[in-house]
Amino acid sequence: MQLDTIVKGGTVVTPGGTFVGDVGIAGEKIAALGSSLDAAGAKTIDATDHYVIPGVLDVHVHLELPFCGTVSADDYRSGTRAGARGGVTTLIDFAIPYAGDSLNDAADNWMKKAERKSLIDYTFHICITRWNEHKDQIEGMVKRGFTTFKEFMIYESEGWQSDDRALYGTLEKMREYGTMLLVHAESARVLDELIARHHTPELMKQYGARLHPMTRPNFVEAEAIQRAVQWSEATGGKLYIVHMSTGEGADIIRAAQARGVPVIAETCVQYLVLDDSVFEREDGHLFACCPQLKKPKDVQRLWQGLNGGEVSVISTDTCTFTREQKAMWEGDWTKIPMGMPGLETLLPLTYTHGVLGGRMSIEDMCMKLSTNPARIMNLAPRKGSISIGADADLAIIHPTRKHTVDPSAMETNADWSPFEGWELAGFARTTVSRGDVIVDDYRVVGKEGRGVWLRRESGIGNRESMLPGAVSIPDSRFPIPAGAR
Ligand SMILES: [Zn+2]
Repeated sequence: MQLDTIVKGGTVVTPGGTFVGDVGIAGEKIAALGSSLDAAGAKTIDATDHYVIPGVLDVHVHLELPFCGTVSADDYRSGTRAGARGGVTTLIDFAIPYAGDSLNDAADNWMKKAERKSLIDYTFHICITRWNEHKDQIEGMVKRGFTTFKEFMIYESEGWQSDDRALYGTLEKMREYGTMLLVHAESARVLDELIARHHTPELMKQYGARLHPMTRPNFVEAEAIQRAVQWSEATGGKLYIVHMSTGEGADIIRAAQARGVPVIAETCVQYLVLDDSVFEREDGHLFACCPQLKKPKDVQRLWQGLNGGEVSVISTDTCTFTREQKAMWEGDWTKIPMGMPGLETLLPLTYTHGVLGGRMSIEDMCMKLSTNPARIMNLAPRKGSISIGADADLAIIHPTRKHTVDPSAMETNADWSPFEGWELAGFARTTVSRGDVIVDDYRVVGKEGRGVWLRRESGIGNRESMLPGAVSIPDSRFPIPAGAR
């Protein structure tokens, strides 16, 4: 077969195992894996002394989102350039209906944000914010190629909140259509009460941004996860807990999976590398995100959950606000625009603190950043692994070369970073998206607007990917090529 491009001599991580050799690309697809592919007529990308890993999927992203009285600062141009530099080749954003919008309107609005700007491939989770109006529109969205839906257990003031009736009813429909419901799990009534009790001028003066973690004790998340799990168990509808931040959450998920509840959990990389001690800092308010950063013991439990299997995916919940936007708080923590930049540092943080930190193997990392998210979100086998027939989405990273995180040198529109000054390996030297080189020598070279919307079919999601033990066991369906080391 005539190959257009050969990625030569890298350490290639595949679902079948890791080998030193070549990846052959024909058109937009991976067409060959081998120890010394015939390079005649093909362009060559040298990957000697580098890892060649599947492009990362960040399945929890908010670009150009109207939220907290402003609009998040990374759009599809800056956000996807940032992603590419961090080896991200696919993202999933959340299409949210605003006043009077149908689910179709929400999808149309998000399509417009992405088209002509996105450097990488994308799709959306469809948010159900008004159950009575939206419930009969779900089936149409499945037919249109969307297979994941989202409900918020909080955010009444934004007009997004779902009650138990909506959660229960949506999960029944998820079971019927073979689709999945993503849930932001925090206990709204108790949370509102705790915020109200602390919302006094005296306490705000005394504690400042520390009131953010003080008003969100772990049980606020744990109770909501427990309740959502209950509805999943009762209906058989597939449930996905987004941005799980507590050890209690991991315990609940582990127990639920053990009794066969179809629930999957995601955490975000910031919950693995930061804790709520950052709120002691002068600029601590910058770190406000929702849910907030937790304690060191939660950080440890989430790493353990990644190894144990109850945490299946690492994402970012990217929702970028500049220093100027964050300054809107003026000492009242309830007015801080909540969210942080993340796409550009997902892979470097996970690689440096996970793989180089001795907490996970490179194969485990690829499972949590690429293979699992693709399978769970109905994007496999097209996305998520280096295998014959898959899209040629690759990140090529040096095993040890570090870059200092410096917001002024990054693609994100954020003028700060939670990780400013950190030394991280794992930035993409080269990123390949459907056969195109979009990052070369650590610089973005790909063309704006080349990314495509990814249509999905329900029922392809793979439950095996969330079972304990599924990590890093070579998959016999993807044999390592003969002759490769
Ligand atoms: Zn989010």
